Amino acid sequence: MPIKYIIENERCGPYIICDYCGEKITKMDGNVYWRHEDAEKGSELFFAHKKCNKLFEKTTGRLSSETLTNLPIRLATNIGMDIEITKDSSPLYEYNLRGKILSFG
Ligand SMILES: [Zn+2]
Repeated sequence: MPIKYIIENERCGPYIICDYCGEKITKMDGNVYWRHEDAEKGSELFFAHKKCNKLFEKTTGRLSSETLTNLPIRLATNIGMDIEITKDSSPLYEYNLRGKILSFG
């Protein structure tokens, strides 16, 4: 689960690292992956750029996935942050979540 704090431009912050190529995922061009069969007890998370997706899954076997842009909203919900979620009207993006943080507690 490669989320690392990295100093960049004199600021330290969390970055998601691609499990396949080892580079940061910085342009919303990644997916989060997990093993569905392990999800009941808690599956480890994996991350990969969309361009690395097929090669990554050759090393892991079949994984469940969703776009990385959903992860912050799901995490915010699961830690009890007050957020507003709306669905994009386009069927291509049916499962993409859009949200905004309404408060921090
Ligand atoms: Zn990559």
